[in-house]
Amino acid sequence: MVPCRARPIGNRSDDRAKDPVLTGNFPLSAWCAFVCFDTKIHGRVAPLSALEPKSGVPVVCLAAKPAPIYRPRQPRQTPLYKTIERYLPEFERTYDRRYAKQYGRWRPIIGDVARRFLRCGDLHFGFARFRCPDCRHEMFVAFSCQQRCLCPSCHQKRTLLTAETIAQTICVPVPHRQLVFTIPKRLRIFCRHNRNLLGELARAARRATVEVYRQVLKRGDVIPGMIAGIQTFGELINYHPHVHAIATDGAFTSDGTFLCLPKVDKQFLLDVWQDKVLQLFVAEGKLDQDTAKQMRHWPHSGFSVDNSVYLAPHDTAGLQRLAEYILRCPFSLARVVRMTKDGSVIYRAEKDHCRRFPGPASRDLRGGPKRNFQVFSALDFLAEVTQHIPDKGEHLVRYYGWYSHRQRGIRNRTRQVGQVESDKLTIDRSALDTQTSATGGALSAWARLIKRVYEVDPLECPCCGGQMKIISFIERCQGDVIEQILRHCSLWEGPLRTSSGARGPPQQPARASPPSDLEFVPDPAFEQSECFESDGREFAKEATGELQLVLDPEFL
Ligand SMILES: [Zn+2]
Ligand SMILES: [Zn+2]
Repeated sequence: MVPCRARPIGNRSDDRAKDPVLTGNFPLSAWCAFVCFDTKIHGRVAPLSALEPKSGVPVVCLAAKPAPIYRPRQPRQTPLYKTIERYLPEFERTYDRRYAKQYGRWRPIIGDVARRFLRCGDLHFGFARFRCPDCRHEMFVAFSCQQRCLCPSCHQKRTLLTAETIAQTICVPVPHRQLVFTIPKRLRIFCRHNRNLLGELARAARRATVEVYRQVLKRGDVIPGMIAGIQTFGELINYHPHVHAIATDGAFTSDGTFLCLPKVDKQFLLDVWQDKVLQLFVAEGKLDQDTAKQMRHWPHSGFSVDNSVYLAPHDTAGLQRLAEYILRCPFSLARVVRMTKDGSVIYRAEKDHCRRFPGPASRDLRGGPKRNFQVFSALDFLAEVTQHIPDKGEHLVRYYGWYSHRQRGIRNRTRQVGQVESDKLTIDRSALDTQTSATGGALSAWARLIKRVYEVDPLECPCCGGQMKIISFIERCQGDVIEQILRHCSLWEGPLRTSSGARGPPQQPARASPPSDLEFVPDPAFEQSECFESDGREFAKEATGELQLVLDPEFL
């Protein structure tokens, strides 16, 4: 008999509030039942005594306080995972024939990243064991893939950390603006086949900004601070290379004085941007001088610059939000609405209003129908998504001028030798430094990020509120140990299908149906997943014949 005060832990805090607290002497078997119940609900909690039968230390689950509990995601349940798992081998086999012409040659990094993504957050590929030192409650946390632009979870973690650094460490407390630079469709295709041009575009944006700022301020020696984020996607994951930048709304002199920028004529900024880009494409041999000259005179050139978003000095939260927006993943899992039986994927736009998609090729050619969603065959979806995966070592964020690594290095050295920096720009980072050293390392960064996103501390013991600690790592190479533990905890789902062998091609033709013939055959497994309940979703056909995907507000 084990003296114990226990409460089964429910799915939600209100469930737990309803459950009685059971106090008394329980036979060990009854106590095990509690722990097993716990295991099922969390899906990640292991009964300690069963894993370590010799420890002989009973676990006492105290009444849990009604607080939200960290519940690890279920990576295998997402339509993105299902699509990649089912169709990746076929996609790789047929890429050259189907997609190489349009999307460029096959890049081996696509296969690498996709396979890593399939292992991300999956306990079957290893995990860390956490234990509460107070009540010895245990939890497993799977390893993540850390891949950019395909794994939404890892991309988001990276985004939050980088955005935090940008907002709190790199940007100085002066006014900032968002600058968005776009190029015409005619030029985008070159970037698709030569990713080096993306970096050149960011440099062109910097050159345009510096030139305009210097002319407006009438000083040839000032430098603005600029952080440029390269995005290759439009709202329906179509290829749309453009540059988002956070730029100081003014420029610095060599002694560190910040000169605020008066209102800039948008047309002037646009003209300079257009010049820089055309010069770049001519220099790269993609355009001849005559074509570039013609493009300068097109009434709708396809070039644009937007500088309407302004951030006041000290608006760190605004900078953080803007940086997160600039660094975001090319697509959102929440917008992958549904996967049909034949593998087609329905992806919706971020905003509800309809736009023509694809847009008109030029002012003489009509675009596609107006809609706020796109239907892809599984293979087309993979082609669209994976084209945004950057090459190894490719920088999607670049720091220029006052915010360049060089300038920041010079300022840091100046600070170290005790030279006084302008009062206005001195930033006290002591609080940040303390936070970093106190939390220490990637693990705490992970816990802090989850806490910030979900308002739940994943390291807080759900049983007693204590601080959980890592006790061991079970690595991928320990396959038999992993299987033994997961089977014991009823978490074993079998080996990965894509790893064990390619599936056959889908039975249905691969191309997506035109919107007017849409017929949605939901995948039963997908329908059952808790995140995507089908209630409240329907396709409405407007009187104009334009389709719009109407979603339950809760789903949005
Ligand atoms: Zn990942
Ligand atoms: Zn505990």
